Amino acid sequence: MYSTMQDVPLLVSRILEHGRKVHATSTVTTWTGEAEPHRRTFAEVGDRAAQLAHALRDELGVRPDDRVATLMWNNAEHVEAYFAIPSMGSILHTLNLRLPVEQLVFIVNHAADRVVIANGSLLPLLAPLLPHLPTVEHVVVSGPGDRSALDGLDVRVHDYEELLAGRATGYAWPELDERQAAAMCYTSGTTGDPKGVVYSHRSIYLHSMQVNMTESMGLTDADTTLVVVPQFHVNAWGLPHATFMTGINMLMPDRFLQPGPLAEMIVAERPTHAAAVPTIWQGLLAELAARPRDISCMKNVTIGGSACPPSLMEAYDKLGVRVCHAWGMTETSPLGTMAHPPHGLSGEEEWPYRITQGRFPAGVEGRLIGPGGDELPWDGESAGELEVRGTWIAGAYYGGADGEPLRPEDKFSADGWLKTGDVGVISADGFLTLTDRAKDVIKSGGEWISSVELENALMAHPEVAEAAVVAVPDDKWGERPLATVVLKEGATADYAALREFLGLSVAKWQLPERWALVPAVPKTSVGKFDKKVIRRQYADGELEVTKLA
Ligand code: AMP
Repeated sequence: MYSTMQDVPLLVSRILEHGRKVHATSTVTTWTGEAEPHRRTFAEVGDRAAQLAHALRDELGVRPDDRVATLMWNNAEHVEAYFAIPSMGSILHTLNLRLPVEQLVFIVNHAADRVVIANGSLLPLLAPLLPHLPTVEHVVVSGPGDRSALDGLDVRVHDYEELLAGRATGYAWPELDERQAAAMCYTSGTTGDPKGVVYSHRSIYLHSMQVNMTESMGLTDADTTLVVVPQFHVNAWGLPHATFMTGINMLMPDRFLQPGPLAEMIVAERPTHAAAVPTIWQGLLAELAARPRDISCMKNVTIGGSACPPSLMEAYDKLGVRVCHAWGMTETSPLGTMAHPPHGLSGEEEWPYRITQGRFPAGVEGRLIGPGGDELPWDGESAGELEVRGTWIAGAYYGGADGEPLRPEDKFSADGWLKTGDVGVISADGFLTLTDRAKDVIKSGGEWISSVELENALMAHPEVAEAAVVAVPDDKWGERPLATVVLKEGATADYAALREFLGLSVAKWQLPERWALVPAVPKTSVGKFDKKVIRRQYADGELEVTKLA
Protein backbone atom coordinates (compact mmCIF):
# COMPACT_ATOMS: atom_id res chain seq x y z
CA MET A 1 0.00 0.00 0.00
CA TYR A 2 1.30 3.47 -0.86
CA SER A 3 0.99 6.43 1.43
CA THR A 4 -1.52 9.18 0.81
CA MET A 5 1.06 11.93 1.14
CA GLN A 6 2.11 14.52 -1.44
CA ASP A 7 5.37 13.79 -3.19
CA VAL A 8 7.00 17.21 -3.43
CA PRO A 9 10.59 16.99 -4.71
CA LEU A 10 13.21 18.24 -2.29
CA LEU A 11 14.83 20.95 -4.42
CA VAL A 12 17.41 23.66 -3.81
CA SER A 13 14.99 26.14 -5.44
CA ARG A 14 12.50 25.44 -2.62
CA ILE A 15 15.14 26.33 -0.02
CA LEU A 16 15.88 29.53 -1.93
CA GLU A 17 12.24 30.59 -2.31
CA HIS A 18 11.53 29.80 1.33
CA GLY A 19 14.43 31.91 2.58
CA ARG A 20 13.62 34.73 0.24
CA LYS A 21 9.94 34.97 1.28
CA VAL A 22 9.82 33.80 4.87
CA HIS A 23 13.18 35.19 6.01
CA ALA A 24 13.27 38.14 3.62
CA THR A 25 14.97 40.49 6.10
CA SER A 26 17.75 38.12 7.21
CA THR A 27 21.10 39.27 5.87
CA VAL A 28 24.27 38.15 4.15
CA THR A 29 27.02 40.54 5.23
CA THR A 30 30.27 40.47 3.26
CA TRP A 31 33.42 41.89 4.83
CA THR A 32 35.08 44.39 2.51
CA GLY A 33 38.11 45.45 4.51
CA GLU A 34 36.74 48.99 4.31
CA ALA A 35 34.80 51.09 6.82
CA GLU A 36 31.47 49.45 6.00
CA PRO A 37 30.83 45.82 5.14
CA HIS A 38 28.40 45.08 2.34
CA ARG A 39 24.90 43.98 3.38
CA ARG A 40 22.27 42.24 1.34
CA THR A 41 18.96 40.76 2.55
CA PHE A 42 17.81 37.24 1.72
CA ALA A 43 15.10 38.86 -0.43
CA GLU A 44 17.77 40.70 -2.43
CA VAL A 45 19.92 37.58 -2.72
CA GLY A 46 16.83 35.74 -4.00
CA ASP A 47 16.11 38.44 -6.59
CA ARG A 48 19.69 38.43 -7.75
CA ALA A 49 19.84 34.61 -7.90
CA ALA A 50 16.90 34.76 -10.31
CA GLN A 51 18.66 37.47 -12.34
CA LEU A 52 21.83 35.39 -12.47
CA ALA A 53 19.86 32.36 -13.68
CA HIS A 54 18.25 34.44 -16.44
CA ALA A 55 21.66 35.76 -17.47
CA LEU A 56 23.29 32.34 -17.48
CA ARG A 57 20.47 30.86 -19.56
CA ASP A 58 19.68 33.72 -21.94
CA GLU A 59 23.04 35.43 -22.38
CA LEU A 60 25.53 32.59 -21.90
CA GLY A 61 23.35 29.73 -23.14
CA VAL A 62 23.78 27.59 -20.02
CA ARG A 63 21.58 24.49 -20.27
CA PRO A 64 20.35 21.89 -17.78
CA ASP A 65 23.20 19.64 -16.59
CA ASP A 66 25.88 22.12 -17.69
CA ARG A 67 28.55 22.59 -15.08
CA VAL A 68 29.07 26.17 -13.90
CA ALA A 69 32.17 26.56 -11.73
CA THR A 70 32.90 29.17 -9.09
CA LEU A 71 36.37 30.36 -8.14
CA MET A 72 35.31 32.63 -5.32
CA TRP A 73 35.77 33.62 -1.70
CA ASN A 74 32.87 33.43 0.75
CA ASN A 75 30.60 36.33 -0.17
CA ALA A 76 27.00 37.23 -1.10
CA GLU A 77 27.59 36.70 -4.84
CA HIS A 78 28.86 33.20 -4.14
CA VAL A 79 25.64 32.53 -2.21
CA GLU A 80 23.66 33.76 -5.23
CA ALA A 81 25.56 31.30 -7.45
CA TYR A 82 24.92 28.54 -4.88
CA PHE A 83 21.19 28.95 -5.39
CA ALA A 84 20.84 30.10 -9.00
CA ILE A 85 22.85 27.34 -10.67
CA PRO A 86 21.24 24.23 -9.11
CA SER A 87 17.77 25.82 -9.08
CA MET A 88 17.85 26.29 -12.87
CA GLY A 89 18.81 22.63 -13.31
CA SER A 90 22.53 23.15 -13.90
CA ILE A 91 25.34 22.02 -11.64
CA LEU A 92 27.35 24.23 -9.32
CA HIS A 93 31.00 23.21 -9.22
CA THR A 94 32.95 24.99 -6.46
CA LEU A 95 36.69 25.18 -7.18
CA ASN A 96 39.20 25.08 -4.36
CA LEU A 97 41.35 28.14 -4.97
CA ARG A 98 44.19 26.74 -2.89
CA LEU A 99 44.76 23.61 -4.94
CA PRO A 100 47.95 23.18 -6.93
CA VAL A 101 47.28 24.49 -10.46
CA GLU A 102 47.70 21.13 -12.15
CA GLN A 103 44.93 19.71 -9.93
CA LEU A 104 42.66 22.65 -10.74
CA VAL A 105 43.22 22.05 -14.46
CA PHE A 106 42.49 18.33 -14.01
CA ILE A 107 39.29 19.06 -12.07
CA VAL A 108 37.84 21.65 -14.47
CA ASN A 109 38.55 19.42 -17.45
CA HIS A 110 37.19 16.33 -15.73
CA ALA A 111 33.97 18.14 -14.80
CA ALA A 112 33.90 19.80 -18.27
CA ASP A 113 32.90 23.16 -16.77
CA ARG A 114 31.45 25.57 -19.39
CA VAL A 115 31.46 28.72 -17.28
CA VAL A 116 33.64 29.97 -14.44
CA ILE A 117 32.34 32.70 -12.14
CA ALA A 118 35.43 34.19 -10.55
CA ASN A 119 36.21 36.91 -8.08
CA GLY A 120 38.32 39.63 -9.67
CA SER A 121 41.05 39.15 -7.07
CA LEU A 122 41.49 35.54 -8.26
CA LEU A 123 42.02 36.31 -11.96
CA PRO A 124 45.82 36.10 -11.61
CA LEU A 125 45.23 32.47 -10.59
CA LEU A 126 42.61 31.70 -13.23
CA ALA A 127 44.01 33.45 -16.31
CA PRO A 128 47.14 31.29 -16.82
CA LEU A 129 44.98 28.14 -16.50
CA LEU A 130 42.44 29.11 -19.16
CA PRO A 131 44.53 28.05 -22.21
CA HIS A 132 44.49 24.54 -20.66
CA LEU A 133 40.70 24.52 -20.07
CA PRO A 134 39.14 23.83 -23.49
CA THR A 135 35.58 23.38 -22.17
CA VAL A 136 35.43 26.82 -20.51
CA GLU A 137 33.66 29.25 -22.86
CA HIS A 138 32.77 32.07 -20.45
CA VAL A 139 34.32 33.79 -17.47
CA VAL A 140 32.04 35.95 -15.32
CA VAL A 141 34.00 38.37 -13.13
CA SER A 142 32.66 39.59 -9.79
CA GLY A 143 34.17 42.14 -7.43
CA PRO A 144 37.37 44.17 -7.48
CA GLY A 145 40.52 43.11 -9.31
CA ASP A 146 42.50 43.84 -12.45
CA ARG A 147 40.74 42.23 -15.40
CA SER A 148 43.50 42.78 -17.93
CA ALA A 149 44.87 39.30 -17.12
CA LEU A 150 42.04 37.95 -19.31
CA ASP A 151 42.93 40.11 -22.35
CA GLY A 152 43.56 38.14 -25.50
CA LEU A 153 42.33 34.81 -24.10
CA ASP A 154 39.90 32.67 -26.04
CA VAL A 155 36.93 33.10 -23.67
CA ARG A 156 34.01 35.50 -23.47
CA VAL A 157 34.40 37.74 -20.44
CA HIS A 158 31.38 39.17 -18.60
CA ASP A 159 30.97 41.51 -15.68
CA TYR A 160 28.77 39.96 -12.99
CA GLU A 161 26.86 43.13 -12.16
CA GLU A 162 26.34 44.13 -15.80
CA LEU A 163 25.09 40.64 -16.53
CA LEU A 164 22.44 40.86 -13.80
CA ALA A 165 21.38 44.46 -14.36
CA GLY A 166 17.76 44.95 -15.48
CA ARG A 167 16.84 41.26 -15.62
CA ALA A 168 13.65 39.83 -14.12
CA THR A 169 13.80 39.07 -10.41
CA GLY A 170 11.49 36.09 -10.68
CA TYR A 171 12.30 32.77 -12.34
CA ALA A 172 10.01 29.83 -12.99
CA TRP A 173 12.37 27.29 -11.46
CA PRO A 174 11.93 23.91 -13.17
CA GLU A 175 10.34 21.07 -11.22
CA LEU A 176 13.36 18.74 -11.25
CA ASP A 177 13.79 15.17 -10.12
CA GLU A 178 15.16 15.54 -6.58
CA ARG A 179 17.81 12.90 -7.30
CA GLN A 180 19.33 15.02 -10.06
CA ALA A 181 22.80 16.51 -9.65
CA ALA A 182 22.82 19.93 -7.96
CA ALA A 183 26.44 20.56 -7.01
CA MET A 184 29.82 18.95 -7.18
CA CYS A 185 32.99 19.12 -5.17
CA TYR A 186 36.27 17.27 -5.68
CA THR A 187 38.17 15.66 -2.82
CA SER A 188 41.51 17.27 -2.12
CA GLY A 189 43.27 14.29 -3.68
CA THR A 190 46.20 13.68 -1.36
CA THR A 191 46.71 10.38 -3.15
CA GLY A 192 45.97 9.99 -6.86
CA ASP A 193 43.76 12.30 -8.87
CA PRO A 194 41.02 14.27 -7.07
CA LYS A 195 37.65 12.53 -7.14
CA GLY A 196 34.35 14.26 -7.84
CA VAL A 197 31.44 13.95 -5.42
CA VAL A 198 28.10 14.97 -6.96
CA TYR A 199 25.42 16.07 -4.49
CA SER A 200 21.75 15.74 -5.37
CA HIS A 201 18.98 18.25 -4.60
CA ARG A 202 17.59 15.69 -2.20
CA SER A 203 20.89 15.13 -0.39
CA ILE A 204 21.44 18.87 0.00
CA TYR A 205 17.89 19.43 1.27
CA LEU A 206 18.03 16.65 3.85
CA HIS A 207 21.55 17.58 4.92
CA SER A 208 20.49 21.20 5.43
CA MET A 209 17.62 20.12 7.67
CA GLN A 210 20.08 18.11 9.73
CA VAL A 211 22.52 21.04 10.02
CA ASN A 212 19.64 23.04 11.49
CA MET A 213 18.64 20.45 14.08
CA THR A 214 19.42 21.26 17.70
CA GLU A 215 21.60 18.18 17.92
CA SER A 216 23.72 19.61 15.09
CA MET A 217 24.29 23.37 14.76
CA GLY A 218 20.79 24.28 15.95
CA LEU A 219 20.83 27.97 14.96
CA THR A 220 17.85 30.30 14.45
CA ASP A 221 17.11 33.68 12.89
CA ALA A 222 18.38 35.27 16.10
CA ASP A 223 21.86 34.02 15.15
CA THR A 224 24.58 35.24 12.86
CA THR A 225 27.03 32.63 11.66
CA LEU A 226 30.55 33.59 10.63
CA VAL A 227 31.19 31.22 7.72
CA VAL A 228 34.97 30.92 7.72
CA VAL A 229 34.96 27.45 6.23
CA PRO A 230 35.31 28.15 2.50
CA GLN A 231 32.32 27.72 0.23
CA PHE A 232 34.58 25.44 -1.85
CA HIS A 233 35.14 23.14 1.15
CA VAL A 234 32.13 20.80 1.10
CA ASN A 235 29.51 23.51 0.54
CA ALA A 236 30.79 25.50 3.52
CA TRP A 237 29.56 22.58 5.63
CA GLY A 238 26.02 23.14 4.41
CA LEU A 239 25.63 26.57 6.00
CA PRO A 240 24.55 28.62 2.96
CA HIS A 241 21.63 26.23 2.40
CA ALA A 242 20.79 25.72 6.08
CA THR A 243 20.66 29.49 6.71
CA PHE A 244 18.03 30.00 4.00
CA MET A 245 15.85 27.38 5.66
CA THR A 246 15.76 29.07 9.05
CA GLY A 247 16.78 32.68 8.46
CA ILE A 248 20.19 32.52 10.14
CA ASN A 249 22.17 35.64 9.20
CA MET A 250 25.50 35.04 7.46
CA LEU A 251 28.74 36.92 7.95
CA MET A 252 31.08 36.23 5.05
CA PRO A 253 34.80 37.04 5.39
CA ASP A 254 35.49 37.24 1.62
CA ARG A 255 39.31 37.21 1.23
CA PHE A 256 39.99 38.55 4.75
CA LEU A 257 40.83 35.23 6.37
CA GLN A 258 43.85 36.27 8.39
CA PRO A 259 43.47 36.20 12.21
CA GLY A 260 43.58 40.03 12.51
CA PRO A 261 40.64 40.81 10.20
CA LEU A 262 38.71 37.82 11.59
CA ALA A 263 39.02 39.25 15.10
CA GLU A 264 37.96 42.67 13.80
CA MET A 265 34.85 41.35 12.08
CA ILE A 266 33.85 39.39 15.18
CA VAL A 267 34.09 42.50 17.33
CA ALA A 268 32.27 44.67 14.78
CA GLU A 269 29.50 42.32 13.63
CA ARG A 270 29.07 40.19 16.78
CA PRO A 271 28.35 36.79 15.20
CA THR A 272 26.90 34.22 17.61
CA HIS A 273 28.38 31.20 15.83
CA ALA A 274 31.24 30.35 13.51
CA ALA A 275 32.52 27.31 11.64
CA ALA A 276 36.12 26.58 10.65
CA VAL A 277 38.96 24.03 10.78
CA PRO A 278 41.24 23.95 13.88
CA THR A 279 44.07 25.83 12.13
CA ILE A 280 41.93 28.97 11.86
CA TRP A 281 41.09 28.80 15.55
CA GLN A 282 44.74 28.31 16.52
CA GLY A 283 45.62 31.41 14.50
CA LEU A 284 42.83 33.46 16.07
CA LEU A 285 43.92 32.37 19.54
CA ALA A 286 47.47 33.61 18.92
CA GLU A 287 46.06 36.91 17.61
CA LEU A 288 43.90 37.33 20.72
CA ALA A 289 46.84 36.53 22.97
CA ALA A 290 48.82 39.31 21.29
CA ARG A 291 45.92 41.81 21.07
CA PRO A 292 43.13 40.79 23.45
CA ARG A 293 39.54 41.40 22.30
CA ASP A 294 36.21 40.17 23.62
CA ILE A 295 34.83 37.51 21.28
CA SER A 296 32.32 36.03 23.74
CA CYS A 297 29.41 37.12 21.50
CA MET A 298 30.29 33.91 19.64
CA LYS A 299 28.54 31.55 22.01
CA ASN A 300 29.09 28.44 19.90
CA VAL A 301 31.58 27.43 17.27
CA THR A 302 31.72 24.31 15.17
CA ILE A 303 35.22 22.92 14.68
CA GLY A 304 35.86 20.03 12.33
CA GLY A 305 37.74 19.01 9.24
CA SER A 306 40.53 17.58 11.35
CA ALA A 307 40.83 16.54 14.98
CA CYS A 308 40.32 19.47 17.34
CA PRO A 309 42.96 19.35 20.10
CA PRO A 310 41.24 19.38 23.52
CA SER A 311 43.65 22.14 24.57
CA LEU A 312 42.15 24.36 21.87
CA MET A 313 38.63 23.70 23.18
CA GLU A 314 39.75 24.57 26.69
CA ALA A 315 41.35 27.80 25.51
CA TYR A 316 38.09 28.89 23.85
CA ASP A 317 36.03 27.80 26.86
CA LYS A 318 38.06 30.32 28.83
CA LEU A 319 37.12 33.03 26.32
CA GLY A 320 33.42 32.23 26.77
CA VAL A 321 33.18 30.42 23.43
CA ARG A 322 31.91 26.84 23.47
CA VAL A 323 33.40 24.55 20.86
CA CYS A 324 31.41 21.69 19.39
CA HIS A 325 33.58 19.14 17.63
CA ALA A 326 32.30 17.68 14.35
CA TRP A 327 33.50 15.07 11.88
CA GLY A 328 32.76 14.84 8.19
CA MET A 329 34.16 14.48 4.69
CA THR A 330 33.58 15.77 1.17
CA GLU A 331 31.82 12.45 0.61
CA THR A 332 29.46 13.00 3.57
CA SER A 333 28.13 16.47 2.57
CA PRO A 334 29.92 16.83 5.19
CA LEU A 335 27.96 16.39 8.41
CA GLY A 336 28.85 12.94 9.81
CA THR A 337 28.94 13.36 13.58
CA MET A 338 28.73 16.15 16.16
CA ALA A 339 29.87 15.99 19.76
CA HIS A 340 27.03 17.27 21.92
CA PRO A 341 27.25 15.45 25.27
CA PRO A 342 24.22 13.41 26.37
CA HIS A 343 21.49 15.25 28.23
CA GLY A 344 21.86 15.71 31.97
CA LEU A 345 25.63 16.14 32.22
CA SER A 346 27.37 19.34 33.15
CA GLY A 347 30.85 20.78 33.60
CA GLU A 348 33.62 18.23 33.85
CA GLU A 349 31.23 15.34 33.16
CA GLU A 350 30.71 16.65 29.65
CA TRP A 351 34.37 16.75 28.82
CA PRO A 352 34.95 13.06 27.86
CA TYR A 353 32.10 13.43 25.32
CA ARG A 354 33.06 16.83 23.97
CA ILE A 355 36.52 15.68 22.89
CA THR A 356 35.12 12.77 20.86
CA GLN A 357 34.04 13.28 17.24
CA GLY A 358 30.44 12.83 18.45
CA ARG A 359 27.28 10.96 17.57
CA PHE A 360 25.75 10.09 14.20
CA PRO A 361 22.52 11.86 13.34
CA ALA A 362 19.55 9.68 12.36
CA GLY A 363 20.34 10.13 8.65
CA VAL A 364 23.79 8.56 8.96
CA GLU A 365 24.58 4.98 9.94
CA GLY A 366 28.09 4.02 11.01
CA ARG A 367 29.91 0.75 11.53
CA LEU A 368 33.48 -0.26 12.37
CA ILE A 369 35.25 -2.89 10.30
CA GLY A 370 38.22 -4.69 11.86
CA PRO A 371 41.44 -5.66 10.06
CA GLY A 372 39.97 -9.09 9.26
CA GLY A 373 36.85 -7.60 7.64
CA ASP A 374 34.54 -8.31 10.61
CA GLU A 375 32.10 -5.74 11.96
CA LEU A 376 33.27 -4.69 15.44
CA PRO A 377 31.15 -4.04 18.54
CA TRP A 378 30.45 -0.53 19.87
CA ASP A 379 32.38 -1.07 23.10
CA GLY A 380 34.72 1.92 23.16
CA GLU A 381 37.72 -0.39 22.69
CA SER A 382 37.51 -2.28 19.41
CA ALA A 383 39.29 -0.14 16.81
CA GLY A 384 38.48 -0.43 13.14
CA GLU A 385 37.86 1.52 9.96
CA LEU A 386 34.70 3.60 10.01
CA GLU A 387 32.19 2.92 7.24
CA VAL A 388 29.06 5.03 6.80
CA ARG A 389 25.89 5.11 4.74
CA GLY A 390 22.98 7.48 4.57
CA THR A 391 20.90 9.82 2.47
CA TRP A 392 23.64 12.47 2.16
CA ILE A 393 26.61 10.07 1.86
CA ALA A 394 28.29 9.48 -1.52
CA GLY A 395 27.67 6.09 -3.11
CA ALA A 396 30.14 6.63 -5.98
CA TYR A 397 32.45 9.22 -7.57
CA TYR A 398 31.82 11.11 -10.79
CA GLY A 399 33.26 9.20 -13.72
CA GLY A 400 33.59 12.10 -16.15
CA ALA A 401 31.25 13.20 -18.96
CA ASP A 402 31.09 9.80 -20.69
CA GLY A 403 32.04 7.57 -17.80
CA GLU A 404 30.05 5.39 -15.45
CA PRO A 405 30.19 6.43 -11.77
CA LEU A 406 33.33 5.10 -10.09
CA ARG A 407 33.13 2.77 -7.10
CA PRO A 408 36.73 1.87 -6.25
CA GLU A 409 36.99 -1.09 -3.88
CA ASP A 410 39.12 0.79 -1.39
CA LYS A 411 36.39 3.46 -1.10
CA PHE A 412 33.12 1.50 -1.16
CA SER A 413 32.27 -1.84 0.44
CA ALA A 414 30.61 -4.58 -1.58
CA ASP A 415 27.29 -3.68 0.10
CA GLY A 416 27.61 0.00 -0.79
CA TRP A 417 28.90 1.66 2.40
CA LEU A 418 31.48 4.43 2.14
CA LYS A 419 34.88 3.41 3.52
CA THR A 420 36.04 6.57 5.25
CA GLY A 421 39.71 5.68 5.72
CA ASP A 422 39.33 6.89 9.32
CA VAL A 423 40.15 4.57 12.19
CA GLY A 424 38.54 4.74 15.60
CA VAL A 425 36.26 3.31 18.24
CA ILE A 426 32.58 3.82 19.05
CA SER A 427 31.35 3.75 22.64
CA ALA A 428 28.32 1.76 23.76
CA ASP A 429 26.37 5.04 23.90
CA GLY A 430 27.25 5.84 20.28
CA PHE A 431 30.12 8.35 20.52
CA LEU A 432 32.77 8.03 17.83
CA THR A 433 36.41 8.64 18.72
CA LEU A 434 38.80 8.75 15.79
CA THR A 435 42.36 7.79 16.55
CA ASP A 436 43.81 8.31 13.09
CA ARG A 437 43.54 8.24 9.33
CA ALA A 438 44.22 4.61 8.37
CA LYS A 439 47.23 5.82 6.42
CA ASP A 440 48.61 7.89 9.32
CA VAL A 441 48.48 5.20 12.02
CA ILE A 442 51.96 4.37 13.36
CA LYS A 443 52.54 0.61 13.37
CA SER A 444 55.22 -0.01 15.96
CA GLY A 445 56.25 -3.60 16.70
CA GLY A 446 52.79 -4.91 15.82
CA GLU A 447 50.98 -2.32 17.98
CA TRP A 448 49.21 0.80 16.73
CA ILE A 449 50.14 4.24 18.01
CA SER A 450 47.65 7.05 17.42
CA SER A 451 49.37 10.08 15.91
CA VAL A 452 46.38 12.21 16.88
CA GLU A 453 46.65 11.24 20.55
CA LEU A 454 50.32 12.25 20.62
CA GLU A 455 49.56 15.53 18.84
CA ASN A 456 46.74 16.41 21.20
CA ALA A 457 48.90 15.68 24.23
CA LEU A 458 51.77 17.75 22.85
CA MET A 459 49.54 20.69 21.93
CA ALA A 460 48.39 20.80 25.56
CA HIS A 461 51.93 21.91 26.52
CA PRO A 462 51.87 25.65 27.27
CA GLU A 463 54.89 26.36 25.05
CA VAL A 464 53.73 24.37 22.01
CA ALA A 465 51.82 26.20 19.27
CA GLU A 466 51.34 23.22 16.95
CA ALA A 467 52.56 19.64 16.72
CA ALA A 468 52.24 16.99 14.03
CA VAL A 469 53.33 13.39 14.47
CA VAL A 470 54.04 10.99 11.60
CA ALA A 471 55.29 7.42 11.25
CA VAL A 472 58.89 7.04 10.10
CA PRO A 473 60.69 3.76 9.26
CA ASP A 474 62.57 2.14 12.14
CA ASP A 475 64.92 -0.85 11.88
CA LYS A 476 63.83 -2.43 15.13
CA TRP A 477 60.10 -1.62 15.36
CA GLY A 478 59.07 -1.21 11.73
CA GLU A 479 57.74 2.28 12.36
CA ARG A 480 58.15 4.82 15.16
CA PRO A 481 56.64 8.27 15.71
CA LEU A 482 58.47 11.43 14.66
CA ALA A 483 57.24 14.51 16.51
CA THR A 484 57.48 17.83 14.66
CA VAL A 485 56.82 20.79 16.91
CA VAL A 486 56.15 24.49 16.43
CA LEU A 487 57.02 26.40 19.60
CA LYS A 488 55.19 29.55 20.67
CA GLU A 489 57.09 32.81 20.25
CA GLY A 490 59.88 33.11 22.82
CA ALA A 491 59.33 29.54 24.13
CA THR A 492 62.32 27.47 25.17
CA ALA A 493 60.99 23.96 25.84
CA ASP A 494 63.50 21.23 24.99
CA TYR A 495 62.79 17.79 23.60
CA ALA A 496 63.50 15.95 26.87
CA ALA A 497 61.07 18.21 28.70
CA LEU A 498 58.44 17.75 26.01
CA ARG A 499 58.83 13.99 26.13
CA GLU A 500 58.52 14.03 29.90
CA PHE A 501 55.34 16.08 29.57
CA LEU A 502 53.96 13.60 27.01
CA GLY A 503 54.79 10.77 29.42
CA LEU A 504 52.19 12.17 31.84
CA SER A 505 49.34 11.16 29.52
CA VAL A 506 50.77 8.64 27.03
CA ALA A 507 52.15 5.12 27.57
CA LYS A 508 55.96 5.05 27.73
CA TRP A 509 56.43 2.74 24.73
CA GLN A 510 54.55 5.21 22.54
CA LEU A 511 56.79 8.20 23.34
CA PRO A 512 58.70 9.47 20.28
CA GLU A 513 62.48 9.24 20.16
CA ARG A 514 62.73 11.45 17.07
CA TRP A 515 62.01 15.14 17.36
CA ALA A 516 62.26 18.13 15.05
CA LEU A 517 61.45 21.81 15.54
CA VAL A 518 59.73 23.33 12.50
CA PRO A 519 58.67 26.92 11.79
CA ALA A 520 55.17 25.77 10.74
CA VAL A 521 53.34 22.51 10.15
CA PRO A 522 52.70 22.16 6.38
CA LYS A 523 48.98 22.46 5.57
CA THR A 524 46.72 21.10 2.83
CA SER A 525 44.54 23.28 0.60
CA VAL A 526 41.81 23.25 3.25
CA GLY A 527 44.11 23.93 6.20
CA LYS A 528 44.70 20.42 7.54
CA PHE A 529 48.09 19.05 8.61
CA ASP A 530 49.77 17.72 5.46
CA LYS A 531 51.50 14.64 6.80
CA LYS A 532 52.50 13.47 3.35
CA VAL A 533 54.76 16.54 3.09
CA ILE A 534 56.28 15.90 6.54
CA ARG A 535 57.03 12.27 5.61
CA ARG A 536 58.68 13.43 2.40
CA GLN A 537 60.70 16.12 4.20
CA TYR A 538 61.94 13.45 6.61
CA ALA A 539 62.78 11.00 3.82
CA ASP A 540 64.67 13.74 1.92
CA GLY A 541 66.64 14.70 5.03
CA GLU A 542 65.15 18.21 5.09
CA LEU A 543 64.31 18.11 8.80
CA GLU A 544 66.86 18.59 11.55
CA VAL A 545 65.98 15.54 13.62
CA THR A 546 67.24 14.92 17.16
CA LYS A 547 67.06 11.34 18.42
CA LEU A 548 66.68 11.01 22.17
CA ALA A 549 68.16 7.93 23.84
P1 AMP B 1 37.83 16.34 3.44
O1 AMP B 1 37.03 15.50 2.55
O2 AMP B 1 38.98 17.03 2.76
O3 AMP B 1 37.01 17.30 4.24
O4 AMP B 1 38.54 15.37 4.50
C1 AMP B 1 37.82 14.46 5.28
C2 AMP B 1 38.72 13.88 6.34
O5 AMP B 1 39.09 14.88 7.30
C3 AMP B 1 38.07 12.79 7.17
O6 AMP B 1 38.06 11.56 6.52
C4 AMP B 1 38.96 12.80 8.42
O7 AMP B 1 40.16 12.08 8.20
C5 AMP B 1 39.30 14.26 8.57
N1 AMP B 1 38.43 14.85 9.59
C6 AMP B 1 37.36 15.63 9.40
N2 AMP B 1 36.84 16.02 10.58
C7 AMP B 1 37.59 15.46 11.55
C8 AMP B 1 37.56 15.46 12.98
N3 AMP B 1 36.68 16.15 13.67
N4 AMP B 1 38.49 14.72 13.63
C9 AMP B 1 39.42 14.02 12.96
N5 AMP B 1 39.51 13.99 11.62
C10 AMP B 1 38.61 14.70 10.92
